[in-house]
Amino acid sequence: MPELPEIETIKNQLLSAAVIGRSITQIEVLYPQVVAYTEEGFEDVVVGTSVDDVHRKGKYLVLGLDNKRNIVIHFRMNGRLLLRERTFAFDPYTQIVISLDDGRELRFGDSRKFATVELMCDADLKAKIVNKLGPDAASELDLEYFYQVLQSTTRPIKSLLLDQQKIAGIGNIYANEALWWAKIHPETSSADVEKREAKELLGAIHRVLAESIQLGGSSKRWFRHIDGGLGRYQEIFKVYNKAGLPCPRHQDVLIRYSKVGGRGTYHCEICQQIAKNRQTSLIDQ
Ligand SMILES: [Zn+2]
Repeated sequence: MPELPEIETIKNQLLSAAVIGRSITQIEVLYPQVVAYTEEGFEDVVVGTSVDDVHRKGKYLVLGLDNKRNIVIHFRMNGRLLLRERTFAFDPYTQIVISLDDGRELRFGDSRKFATVELMCDADLKAKIVNKLGPDAASELDLEYFYQVLQSTTRPIKSLLLDQQKIAGIGNIYANEALWWAKIHPETSSADVEKREAKELLGAIHRVLAESIQLGGSSKRWFRHIDGGLGRYQEIFKVYNKAGLPCPRHQDVLIRYSKVGGRGTYHCEICQQIAKNRQTSLIDQ
């Protein structure tokens, strides 16, 4: 699933490709269910407007229009947004095509058909999306808030990291990777994480997100850049999708796979220990 670094990459690429200021000349909805219900007709409201803003909220991409409406895209598992010349061959799974006045098209689709495109006024964007998200993991999350959230619950730390209402933008890939970097077991009770460890984990979160943005996100499965290119962060995964392979810190110990909160989880049993075992491990060292 595209997470913060992937959507940030798409946002940056759209800005570099100068979509701001372009007007929308036509909308083609090839799969009507991708467009969430709105009282206003989607095409009627969007055609003739210009894109005057592109930004990200958590894992949502927002195209702000000059009529105070926003096209809000949630990529879900397999969403893909491409920017193509009109003459470029049809992209499989395209569900909606937004034509720009310079001959380019924004083509959005999702092979699994869970992604959504929704039209919202500024007030709806705030009420339905922004106000329901926690601080942005890359740009707004500070230690004071982070530690306070950890202290407030005994939920497994990994489940907490995925809770968008508490922290926005982290998904399964970056939760697994950050916990490995911070040497924290994914099932550790959040309230048992000490302040020192919270600081380590926050640093690890910022690190994995920044590195991934720099590498254009991760394209392990479905994610593609707006030109169809691949992100490269999957080349430096430490634990995600590495079950049965050696931990980069312990060549003789294999990465384990389990489920935490129903989500696939990867960890090293030596460098990531649950709090009650940690004392022993410190003595061992
Ligand atoms: Zn290890």
